[in-house]
Amino acid sequence: MFGPVASRRLGFSLGLDLVPFKTCTLDCVYCQLGRTTHKIIERKGYISEEQLLSQLERVLSERRRIDHITLSGSGEPTLNSKIGRIIKSVKGITSIPVAVLTNGTLFSQEGVRDELMNADVVIPSLDAASQEVFEAVNRPTEGLSVERIIEGQKAFREEYHGQLWLEVMLVKGLNDTPEELERIRQAIREISPERVQLNSVVRPPAEEFARPVADERLEEIQRFLGDGCEVIAQGGRRVQSLFDGGIEEAITQILRRRPATAEEIASSLGLHPNVIRKQILTLERKGKVIPVMHENGRYYRIS
Ligand code: SF4
Repeated sequence: MFGPVASRRLGFSLGLDLVPFKTCTLDCVYCQLGRTTHKIIERKGYISEEQLLSQLERVLSERRRIDHITLSGSGEPTLNSKIGRIIKSVKGITSIPVAVLTNGTLFSQEGVRDELMNADVVIPSLDAASQEVFEAVNRPTEGLSVERIIEGQKAFREEYHGQLWLEVMLVKGLNDTPEELERIRQAIREISPERVQLNSVVRPPAEEFARPVADERLEEIQRFLGDGCEVIAQGGRRVQSLFDGGIEEAITQILRRRPATAEEIASSLGLHPNVIRKQILTLERKGKVIPVMHENGRYYRIS
């Protein structure tokens, strides 16, 4: 469990991490968590549902502001075979909407689709519509076909009555060609999500060669993909401090999830960037965080 953290799309989001670090069906070149160490397709129970729910009840009793309870984290949450039961149990103890951030690769399995029916918002990814580009950007585990994934997402749309937002992560030179974008546009039309959210490589990626698409090009692509498409690559909103346990702990909690700049951390915690820079310097001296340069920005990640 992590947060609540300020999320670009979900407001104050309390994250439930359902699989161990970097357990995923994909190994995306842009992944901000680094390369996938457990690339698998088999689903397992992974965590204790009871422990998770008792932690959740404790956090809820603190009465902090939480806009969404988000199943996501440091891997693919649908690889947890208890996800359906967990969603039902969470909804049994709170009325806070449940969101699922998923790479959507297992939607071809009817059982996985059924398990997500009770979520309020489901946000799958679709970064490619041809097998060649899918393999270049997402480096899937053997046997995953993008055609079947798109069919699965279409079937999910037909069966699911909640909010479906599709995320497209664009990587310069890989999936931003006119041909691939045309195929993606066709797939989006067929899936028919409520929203399409365009993102790009704004944080340090797993692979150096994964570069972001320029803002102007993102806007062009947004217009090309049509109504309901928004750019979320630039984000972050100013919020109040959310963390107990001191600023140092708050900073490391954010950086455990993803690399961030001092300004982003400051924005998340509602503090002045200079306060954050000072704390980061202390953490750097202690060897707990390291700076990483990406697109002229200085990011920090856990050492
Ligand atoms: S970006 Fe998401 S789907 Fe891709 S490797 Fe990382 S955790 Fe998996």
